Amino acid sequence: MALVKYIFVTGGVASSLGKGIISASLAKLLQARGFSVTIQKLDPYINVDPGTLNPYEHGECFVTDDGAETDLDLGHYERYLNVPTSQANNVTTGRIYQEVINKERRGDYLGETVQVIPHITDEIKRRIKLLGNSGKFDFIITEIGGTVGDIESLPYIEAVRQMRWEMGTSCLVIHLTLVPYLAAAGELKTKPTQHSVKALLELGVQPDIIVCRTEKHLNEGMRNKIALFCNVDPTAVIESIDADSIYDVPLLMHEEKLDLEVLDKMKMPSEKEPDLNSWYEFLHKLKNPEGEITIGLIGKYVELKDAYKSINESFVHAGAVNQYKVKVKSIHSEHISPETVAESLKGLHGILVAPGFGSRGIEGKIEAIRYARESKIPFLGICLGMQCAVIEFGRNVLGLTGAHSTEMAPDTPFPVIDIMEEQKQIHEMGGTMRLGSYPCKIEQGTKTFEVYNTDLISERHRHRYEFNNKFLAEYQKSGMKTPGINTLNNLVEIIELADHPWFIGVQFHPEYKSTVANPHPLFVNFVKAAIIYSKNKPD
Ligand code: GLN
Repeated sequence: MALVKYIFVTGGVASSLGKGIISASLAKLLQARGFSVTIQKLDPYINVDPGTLNPYEHGECFVTDDGAETDLDLGHYERYLNVPTSQANNVTTGRIYQEVINKERRGDYLGETVQVIPHITDEIKRRIKLLGNSGKFDFIITEIGGTVGDIESLPYIEAVRQMRWEMGTSCLVIHLTLVPYLAAAGELKTKPTQHSVKALLELGVQPDIIVCRTEKHLNEGMRNKIALFCNVDPTAVIESIDADSIYDVPLLMHEEKLDLEVLDKMKMPSEKEPDLNSWYEFLHKLKNPEGEITIGLIGKYVELKDAYKSINESFVHAGAVNQYKVKVKSIHSEHISPETVAESLKGLHGILVAPGFGSRGIEGKIEAIRYARESKIPFLGICLGMQCAVIEFGRNVLGLTGAHSTEMAPDTPFPVIDIMEEQKQIHEMGGTMRLGSYPCKIEQGTKTFEVYNTDLISERHRHRYEFNNKFLAEYQKSGMKTPGINTLNNLVEIIELADHPWFIGVQFHPEYKSTVANPHPLFVNFVKAAIIYSKNKPD
C-alpha cells in the first residue's frame, strides 16, 4: 500500500470558523475520488473525553459505535463520509497526559525526566499514526482544536511541526483563518490572516494551504497579497465563503480546487474527477422542497445551537428524502405546563422529546407527551424522551400516581424507569454509562418493523436508566407495545403505542447514525408521518 498521507487542519484568528466542516468537506472530495479517508479531532482540553461536559460548555456529546463519548465534529465526519469513527478519532490532552502518566507510573520511562517534548508530543504523534497504521486509510485528516497561539494547543502544533519535518510531502498543513469584512471601510481585511500565519510560523510550521473564511468574495489582488505575505502559492489561497447550508461546502471547496491543490502538493494522482452525483441529488432535494412541516423539539438546552446538533442534522437528511422542508422549532420544556401546553405546541406537525439528564424541565416534557398522545400528533422520544413517555403512560393511562424514574425521584412508589443493574455499583461519572452500539431485535407486525424493515438492528446508547421490566405486562396489556428488545439482557429498547398513528420512543440515539448517504429510517418515517398529519390537519 502507498504511504499514508497526513493532513493537518489548524485554525487561526477566531474559533468557530468551521474547521470541522472544512475537514469533512475535503475528506468528502477525496473519498469521492476513490480514496479511503478518515478524520480525527485533537482537543486541547484536560477532560479525558467530553462525556462529562455540560452542553453549555461544548455542545452535543457525540457517541461512536465503540462507545467513545466524543466531540460533536465527529458527527459531521460521519454524516459526510458515511464511515463510522471510533475512539481513535478523538483524542484530548487529558487522554494524552493520562497515558503518559500511567506509563511513567508503570516504570516505562525509568530513569528519564518525563517532559512535554518528547514524551507528550510522542504520545500525540502515536495517536495520530494509530489511524494511519490501521492499514485502512489513504488519508488521515487531523483537525487540531482551538486556535493557533492558545497555550493549550502548543504541544499539538509542535507534533505537527515534527511530523511535517519527518514526512515531507506525505504531510500537509491547511490553516483556516478569517478574512473579516469591515463595513465602515467597505473592504475585506487580510491583516488578521497574516498575523495568524505569523503565529504559526513562530512555532515552526509553514502552512501549505490557507483557507479563508469570508462573507464576501476575495479578489485576485487579495489572494496574491495573502500568498505573498504568507509564503504560499496563489492557488493555495482558498476562499471559503459563507454558505446557505453546511452541505454546500464540499462543492464550494471543489470549485475552489482545494482537493486538487492537496493532491498536487502531496504528489498524488488527480486525473479522476470526484463522483459527487449522490451529493448533488441530496442537495437538489434539500433545496427544492414541495412543502414544509414544523417539528417541535422539546428540550432544556433550546437556546444552544449545538446542543442537539445530530438531531437537527437528522431532520435535514430526513427532510431531503421526503423532499420537504423540516422546520425545527425549539421549545423549552420548563415553559410547558398543563395550562400552557396547547398554546406552546400549537401548529406543530410532530413532537420530539429530546435526550437529557436530571430533573430540570422534566414535567414539561411529560406534559408535551401527554398532549402528543391524546391529540394523536406524531411523536418521537429519544432516550430521556422515551423514558418520559413511559412515565406519562404510567401516570395517565395506568393510573400509577407518582410514577417516575429513580433518576429524578429515588423514592417514587412506581419506579417505571430504574437504574440498570450493572450501573448500581458505579460511582465514577466519566465513561461509565451504557455506551455505544447494542443489538436489538424488532418484532414483526409493529410500526417499528415497518420503519426499519428488518428484524435485527444495532443502535448507539448513552444512558444509565432503563424501562423497569416489573411493569412490562401491565404496560403491554394497556396498549404500550415493546417492539424492540435487547435479546442479550432483555432490556426494552423501543416502545410504541397501539392506538396512535405514530408514537415511538427509543432508548438509544438514532440521531448518531443518520448520514447524508444513509438517512436514519426513524427520522425519515417520523417526518413522513408529520407530513401526513399536516395534510389531514392543516393549521
Ligand atoms: N438521563 C437518562 C439516563 O441516564 C437519559 C439519558 C439520555 O437521554 N441520554 O438514563
